[in-house]
Amino acid sequence: MDKEKGLLIVLSGPAGVGKGTVCGALRQQDTDIQYSVSATTRKPRQGEVDGVNYFFKEKEHFEEMIKNDQLLEWAEYVGNYYGTPVDYVRETINKGQDIILEIEVQGALKVRERFPEGVFIFLMPPSLAELRSRIVGRGTETEEIINKRMTVAKEEIDMMKRYDYVVENDEVHLAVERIKAIVTAEHCKRERLIEKYTQLVEVQ
Ligand code: 5GP
Repeated sequence: MDKEKGLLIVLSGPAGVGKGTVCGALRQQDTDIQYSVSATTRKPRQGEVDGVNYFFKEKEHFEEMIKNDQLLEWAEYVGNYYGTPVDYVRETINKGQDIILEIEVQGALKVRERFPEGVFIFLMPPSLAELRSRIVGRGTETEEIINKRMTVAKEEIDMMKRYDYVVENDEVHLAVERIKAIVTAEHCKRERLIEKYTQLVEVQ
């Protein structure tokens, strides 16, 4: 029998919902899940390490990666490119290991087209008021920009319909537990196990 493939897990959701924080908290736990490191043209923030948080690229290099089909998906977000290197994702799932991608919603929909068998998790803010306060809390944006971001966020929330699971991010540790529970449940799905256990019966 072919080795069972790992799960491709996509964690997405509206801007400001806390995808990075939740994924970071999951990463600190001792799970068997691998993490996809994205490529980006945005400049590193303080404390970010090349190859750990992102592969930081010049625009020309990123465009080469697009041209050479090295990205599973990519998107332009607030003036920068972000994309998922495809080779690591394929190698990981082919080895039977799970991998999680933390990406914005446009990219997530593109992954769904190429990997319909992926597990798509939508991280949901507990309320719009909470989302607004997180967006405001980030920096010095004007009222106009905040309102624009809120409009975009509402459109993004509407994308929830295209996902398999919705996880509320009321508290980071609870969101992490829910994601781990989803991964466990996905591993127990009949479709994943039927071949293995049918063989078991045939051997007897
Ligand atoms: P930040 O600049 O704050 O690290 O990320 C900005 C947004 O880009 C976040 O919503 C994050 O989830 C998203 N992002 C990070 N990596 C990728 C990627 O490889 N592809 C896509 N489509 N979005 C990404």
